[in-house]
Amino acid sequence: MTELSCDVRTLNADLHCHSTVSDGTLSPAALAERACRHGVELWSLTDHDEIRGQAEAARAAEALGLRYVAGVEISVTWAGETLHIVGLRIDWESAVLTEGLESVRSGRARRARAIAEQLAAVGIPGAFEGALGFVGNPDLISRTHFARFLVESGVCPDVHAVFSNYLVKGRPGYVPITWASLGDALGWIQAAGGAAVVAHPGRYHLSRTALHEMLGEFKERGGQGLEVVTGSHSVDQYREYAAIAREFGFLASRGSDFHGPGESHTELGMLPALPDSLTPIWHDWF
Ligand code: AMP
Ligand code: MN
Ligand code: MN
Ligand code: MN
Repeated sequence: MTELSCDVRTLNADLHCHSTVSDGTLSPAALAERACRHGVELWSLTDHDEIRGQAEAARAAEALGLRYVAGVEISVTWAGETLHIVGLRIDWESAVLTEGLESVRSGRARRARAIAEQLAAVGIPGAFEGALGFVGNPDLISRTHFARFLVESGVCPDVHAVFSNYLVKGRPGYVPITWASLGDALGWIQAAGGAAVVAHPGRYHLSRTALHEMLGEFKERGGQGLEVVTGSHSVDQYREYAAIAREFGFLASRGSDFHGPGESHTELGMLPALPDSLTPIWHDWF
């Protein structure tokens, strides 16, 4: 394992969050300002299947003296399960990545119509138009926008309640969609010169065997990192995924997955440090 200086290990890195370009509620520039205010020292904006916020994020970060790496969070379907793969230090002008992301986004509009039809069938009309009211990027309508509409219209008290009762398997408003393959997502990230990280591994409904199989395939295809410390993990899960990162020889990442004030429990830059036994994915970036 690489010998690291104290500075690199304890650097306040937040390498996962969302802007209005996907399903966050703040603009890339407002996020940069907020990250800076909360003590973030290395930041990445990782919108779902989108890189059109990157230029604004990088510019705003530079003006604030905040170290920035370009990022993206790609939706993947693996063995029928949705996975999120974060790409870091990508070239956001890569044609391969741009075209790949366009293809992943292309199913969202049709899915949104089908979600709205299902909600109408259980007595919730106007969900498509309602969700659109929360969308910042017409190419990126997500379940989060439907969740905000369901909260606004009084169907659920908050976004978390929505994802317990609607929009998920077995509930009204669940419409399966096939995202990118793991191989495609890794190929696009690599074509853009980036490093691939499995986001919030504790959130997937995979058996231990399937998780190990997926991580094995991810590594074999050149994937480098595991998001060990994330707003989606409990303290026990930090330990659990730290052990898995060591077992597979993955570099470790840290990211809040912040979506906006009042909605995300984890603020930008407010997570605990990575466990000492891990090598941060940013260890050789500067
Ligand atoms: P989509 O990519 O359209 O399927 O939407 C996925 C997004 O929904 C995630 O990135 C989260 O922002 C949000 N989401 C999914 N599950 C939950 C949950 N249990 N609580 C809050 N937000 C969730
Ligand atoms: Mn999201
Ligand atoms: Mn995610
Ligand atoms: Mn995310």
